[in-house]
Amino acid sequence: MLLTISTAHVPATDLGYLLHKNPARLQTEELSFGKAHVFYPEANVDRCTVAVLLEVDPIALVRGRRGPAGDGRQLQQYVNDRPYAANSFMSVALGRLFATALSGRSKERQELVDISLPLNAKLPAIAAGSGSELVRRLFEPLGYRISTESGLLDETFPDWGESRYASVEIAATTRLRDLLTHLYVLIPVLDNEKHYWVSDDEVEKLLKRGEGWLAMHPEKDLIVSRYLKRQRSLTREALDRLAEETPEIEENQEETRNQEEQQVERSLGLHEQRMGTVLSVLRGLGARRIIDLGCGEGKLLRYLLADPQFEFTLGMDVSWKSLEVAKERLHLDRLPERQKDRIQLVQGSLMYRDQRLSGFDAATVVEVIEHLDAPRLEAFERVLFAFARPMHVVLTTPNVEYNSVFETLPTGQFRHRDHRFEWSRAEFETWAKSIADQYGYEVRFQAVGPQDQMLGAPTQMGIFSRVGGAA
Ligand code: SAH
Repeated sequence: MLLTISTAHVPATDLGYLLHKNPARLQTEELSFGKAHVFYPEANVDRCTVAVLLEVDPIALVRGRRGPAGDGRQLQQYVNDRPYAANSFMSVALGRLFATALSGRSKERQELVDISLPLNAKLPAIAAGSGSELVRRLFEPLGYRISTESGLLDETFPDWGESRYASVEIAATTRLRDLLTHLYVLIPVLDNEKHYWVSDDEVEKLLKRGEGWLAMHPEKDLIVSRYLKRQRSLTREALDRLAEETPEIEENQEETRNQEEQQVERSLGLHEQRMGTVLSVLRGLGARRIIDLGCGEGKLLRYLLADPQFEFTLGMDVSWKSLEVAKERLHLDRLPERQKDRIQLVQGSLMYRDQRLSGFDAATVVEVIEHLDAPRLEAFERVLFAFARPMHVVLTTPNVEYNSVFETLPTGQFRHRDHRFEWSRAEFETWAKSIADQYGYEVRFQAVGPQDQMLGAPTQMGIFSRVGGAA
């Protein structure tokens, strides 16, 4: 069983420091199921690859295990895919060989640990079952590009059909510890071997390794269930505990920060103008089914609910607390039946490809992108424009040029402490046009709020429409 991880980061041999494994040496560890070797097929300044090769000993696996004699499964105990197809043994090996890297520490190069590197991992054999669909569902939401290859079971006998094994390659610019963590959890999920002992502490391991990403993954139910080999009580326990993973402190901070932003902009009544403009654009587009991404406390949702043109609205936000406030403000519990069916709130992250986001006429993204840091913005672009693909996207963000007009805002400071950037009109337009080109949309721009001759308007809006209409 083989896994390779490559990087083209310069110097690529930094990989050795990050993994605590010297590229010049072959290292071998004895594990309960066999041997794990680590070596580097290439270690140059511009490209470095580490390989983890497991020699699984099928006899050691069977030893000590009892089963009914003569039931025809004896041969299968010795001749099976366990030594070859990537499975939970690989996770055990990763945990043992790269414990320090997995926990985000590096003795000699701590500064490297938090840097995103161009990384590429290859698994030459996984028991993918029905093609690459599962690989995509698992890895794409985490921002990976996927390629898979499968072939005939035997080229001399095409009648035998396709092999149920595939080779998989995933690539992303990400931190090495994240890649290792995702592989650690998702390799056993890809492997569908059911008859395998799962102990209680697997729940702990899963939650520990899933921290910060699993709770928000759109396939979390499937991941948890397959990781725990479909043991119902363990699966339930893990899912319940994931549901409790709410970033309470951060959200309180979020609330005060939101107030700050409102104060800066209040003098202009900008918020209301923004909502008004978004609504009139949506009406003009004839949109009926709307998804409001990063809906916050539901300000836009309230307007959408009031206009019968909008047949259905889905509000999505990462913050549970904001959604609770939205629910309260919209009186969702007390709405008449007819109205209730027109709106739904869900918790979710814009970083993750999510089936629930498909099939809408328009998506609104009001004052959200500036809260995302650069690598995440890229994931969001793919989630929205490549996967959800609504007919239209109405997106607003501050125009930084206008900031000097706000008397209470010190020079050089953003309107909101949580903003990762604020763009000039030229920056926003360049970004929006390149996104439109890349994903087959057209984009036009509209200013929102009082216009200054030199500085433009406080809010800028991009209205994207899919080229060629429905398809
Ligand atoms: N659109 C609302 C809220 C804007 S504030 C309005 O105009 O009033 C930005 C919102 O984006 C916050 O509610 C925040 O929780 C949400 N947000 C930030 N990052 C997110 C992410 N990754 N996924 C979903 N929502 C996110």
